Amino acid sequence: MIPLSYSRIQSFLECPFKFYKKYILKESEPYSTPLAFGSTVHTGIEKVLRGKVDATEEAIEAFMTTSVQKQPYFLNKEHIFEGTQQILAALENALVDDSTLWGGEILSERRFSFNQDWEPCTWRADDIYFRGIIDVYRAVGDTLYLVDWKTSRAVSNNKDQARIYAMIGFLVEDGVTNVQTVFDYIRLGYQDEEIFEPSIKAEMTDWVDSISRQVENTTIWESTPNDFCGYCGFKADCPAFKETVLDIQNEIVTEETIATMSDLDLYKFNTMAKAVAEAADEEIKLRLTKGDIDLGNGKIYTYRKQTRTDVKKEAVTLLLDAGVSAEIIAPYARLSSARAKKILASLPEKDRQDLTDSLLTRRSYNVRTKISKK
Ligand code: SF4
Repeated sequence: MIPLSYSRIQSFLECPFKFYKKYILKESEPYSTPLAFGSTVHTGIEKVLRGKVDATEEAIEAFMTTSVQKQPYFLNKEHIFEGTQQILAALENALVDDSTLWGGEILSERRFSFNQDWEPCTWRADDIYFRGIIDVYRAVGDTLYLVDWKTSRAVSNNKDQARIYAMIGFLVEDGVTNVQTVFDYIRLGYQDEEIFEPSIKAEMTDWVDSISRQVENTTIWESTPNDFCGYCGFKADCPAFKETVLDIQNEIVTEETIATMSDLDLYKFNTMAKAVAEAADEEIKLRLTKGDIDLGNGKIYTYRKQTRTDVKKEAVTLLLDAGVSAEIIAPYARLSSARAKKILASLPEKDRQDLTDSLLTRRSYNVRTKISKK
């Protein structure tokens, strides 16, 4: 049985291939700036609500400064100010602004886990079926308030997430007659609220059960292009992504073919074309200009490892496939001379000419840098 959570369900519904890579093969997905920032702000709010960081601007700024210094490849000085302001904004939420209730009536980052009979169990129980973490949990009279902090720049559709939170609330609190979910977009100063009645519990446990059955019965994990492909860490192995790159490279998709596409195909094509561009950008930013890559799971890929595995083999060819010019790639590419020659040999004549000098010069530059550091 594969344990589920709201984010796992979302991932399965968006793209089964990504779900398979991430939750069944348990492959790590590369970390990114939005993930690093969101996670740091969440931790900051939690630390304040648990009394581990004072609720003053100075203390919060000190927390942000230390956090940014620990993640130099993803966060910069601007994130210190931005994060501090967002944590302060979250503390103005009327549901948490009474510090005398922190750690008591107001609980932060509360974890819930259930077995297949929807009975609470321990977080790491062998028969775990569903898990959830709720940012703020507060029962007042017969109403349970559940807050989720959002650090995104835009309001998104969180209906299923709200319904799942309400389900959790009614599963664990016998006495409440209402659950109110509050998605607090702290960057935007906007709160999306919804009130649920107890009937949501049966409705959503049935829904999760049906998704769980679908997951268990899935044998072909199809890659399904969606709005988040650009941020997906598995695109290098993704059949749909590669197919679209090839289509674009081979000009299968032309103005004439676009004119005859159905709305759905056009939507898919636009999504993937955007993803290709974003992926190329991400590759340059994350893989080629960075040193250590913190995967956020305790593992850090060193620059050397990136250079000798992913970058040399996948990134340069992916970037070229995605239409990024050799001129743009060259300053960032750091390759062994054997690999550089191999890649050069596989390129069309024009790209080969453009890249030869820069790749080999870059190689010498790297060697010199290494020697001078010793
Ligand atoms: S790139 Fe898109 S289609 Fe491919 S695995 Fe990622 S989310 Fe799925």
